[in-house]
Amino acid sequence: MSVFGITDVVANRMCVGCGACAVRPAGEASMRWTVREIHEADLDGLSAGALARASAVCPFSDACPDEDALARDLGPGERLEAGPEVGGYRRVVPGRLADDRLLAWASSGGLTGYVLRKLLVQGQVDGVVHVRSTGAADGPLVDYTVSTTREEVLARGKSRYHSVEFSAVFNRLRGNGPR
Ligand code: SF4
Repeated sequence: MSVFGITDVVANRMCVGCGACAVRPAGEASMRWTVREIHEADLDGLSAGALARASAVCPFSDACPDEDALARDLGPGERLEAGPEVGGYRRVVPGRLADDRLLAWASSGGLTGYVLRKLLVQGQVDGVVHVRSTGAADGPLVDYTVSTTREEVLARGKSRYHSVEFSAVFNRLRGNGPR
């Protein structure tokens, strides 16, 4: 039986335009903005080897390990709890911000933004890669950017729902100096 690969993903319109296959050095695909106003992988002209590398990172390809496989391969001594409903996990903790003024700038309780702001302020990360509004009248309404201040993380904290891909920002960041 043949493996359901990245060409099948795109041919069957299952590509969500994430951009993983266009991040070097995993693949040589590029991204295009389609007439349906979504990002989609452009596989035209790729060699069999390049398609295999792209398939290995496409989440809808059978060649890409799923979350359960990744959770089993955390390295020596690392082991997660596991359950049929949620897969691998270290700990499950419900919560939300206690400050209602900050909640207005957040989504889903605001815990992700809280952790990201803490990491930035404590100097444990150089920046946060996340989605912002482009303000554009045409084309993508959102894109990925890098926030390096607490204020930027807060201002871009809400969820946004439009087609978005991350290859451009990761290809720009790779090897540019900071961690
Ligand atoms: S990796 Fe992402 S962008 Fe590339 S084909 Fe798969 S879903 Fe589409």
